[in-house]
Amino acid sequence: MTTSAISLAQAIAARTTTAAAATDAALSAITERDGELHAFLHVDADAARQAASAIDARIAAGETVGPLAGVPVAIKDNLVMTGVPTTCGSKILEGWRPPYTATVVERLIDAGAIPIGKTNLDEFAMGSSTENSAYGPSRNPIDPTKVPGGSSGGSAVAVAAGYVPVSLGSDTGGSIRQPAAFCGLIGYKPTYGHISRYGLVAFSSSLDQVGPFTTTVADSALVSEIIGGHDHRDSTSIDAPAPSLLEACGRGVAGLRVGLCSDLLDGADAVIVDRVRAAAAALEAAGATIVDLAIPELRLGLSAYYLLAPAEASSNLARYDGVRFGLREERDDVAAMNVATRTAGFGPEVKRRIMLGTYALSAGYYDAYYGQAQKTRRLITNALDAAYQGVDLLLGATTPTTAFGFGDKVADPLSMYLSDLFTIPSNLAGHPAMSVPFGTDSAGLPIGVQLLAPGRRDDLLFAAGAVLESEVSA
Ligand code: GLN
Repeated sequence: MTTSAISLAQAIAARTTTAAAATDAALSAITERDGELHAFLHVDADAARQAASAIDARIAAGETVGPLAGVPVAIKDNLVMTGVPTTCGSKILEGWRPPYTATVVERLIDAGAIPIGKTNLDEFAMGSSTENSAYGPSRNPIDPTKVPGGSSGGSAVAVAAGYVPVSLGSDTGGSIRQPAAFCGLIGYKPTYGHISRYGLVAFSSSLDQVGPFTTTVADSALVSEIIGGHDHRDSTSIDAPAPSLLEACGRGVAGLRVGLCSDLLDGADAVIVDRVRAAAAALEAAGATIVDLAIPELRLGLSAYYLLAPAEASSNLARYDGVRFGLREERDDVAAMNVATRTAGFGPEVKRRIMLGTYALSAGYYDAYYGQAQKTRRLITNALDAAYQGVDLLLGATTPTTAFGFGDKVADPLSMYLSDLFTIPSNLAGHPAMSVPFGTDSAGLPIGVQLLAPGRRDDLLFAAGAVLESEVSA
């Protein structure tokens, strides 16, 4: 499926095609290619076909349907849907069928979208390649010998392979933007609180956000408007209407000041640095002013993140005890059952994070690790706030490299963690950011440039993202 969600929905509403045909096209593309690419952990073909027929019947009856009526979508397998298996890429949740549906999924369904299935991810969204999935990795459709990025790798593959025009991912430290960059897609992480986390399985609650993968900036805006806005079931949701993003796509960048930030560039491959500079030139040609600047505090983000995220994860993952969810390894007493279940159910990266987090929170080390990391988080947020006194937006690389090969980084967790160098600061500050495809390396692998904006100025990302997109497609 090469068409955008917006044009597909228009064609379905105009009855040039049907929701059933769009759903069948998605399902047959999956049958054809997903044995190799492994974007999906679970495909619900019957439910999708039924939902599509219902949409077609409503259109035939002349009823008004939602803005995504008949558009097939894919959902990261850490977002719950009533009765649909949710594994989070972990053995510990095998067999669990959630009793409720995430707000974001509910809102997509209300808009007429057809959920096709649940996509692969690094276990509990911890990773940058999907190699940490307990169910095997996904492959990059542009070059199947390369990883698609992670942790939302399956969601990126589902769109990049052309199965569906839209998927949802989650971004705690870069898990939407990094796979979007590796697969040549638009990946958007909203301002913390703009999009509900209700029904997103918690990894690191102060950082986790849901967002879309799309092939166009306008699709990203439409989907984000649909899933965004206040949700009383998420206590961290901002009590305000969803921001207007579609309107921003046509606004242009004339008069905007864009900070080209060396700390979001240094350490990236030369070919990526070149493309970021080309993006700056494109924004300048469209009327923006480019300001070279440095924000050295951003460099501290990685170490703060790898204390804070594991600390929160160690607490969030305590609920998987063999009693309430999924897997249980039977033993003679409860404590032995807990230990056996967690030992068998969690993979090595999740165990590493639980140990790191528990250590960082332990009495005697709390101030030295968790406390310091919290102070660093504040330092980074302050530094970004200061930078935004002089510029409206920041521009840099999304990732230091293009998509890497399987096995290249799994043996060395630190090198894997470095994938997140440029994406983490936005999560720590709660600010919005977007990766926009802007060319390829010499091997034809996609390169993403990253736009960052201050909290609640997500609209600026869409204004600038649309300018970059038009430059690439020109
Ligand atoms: N790669 C990062 C990590 O492993 C980010 C993951 C994410 O954003 N979910 O924690």
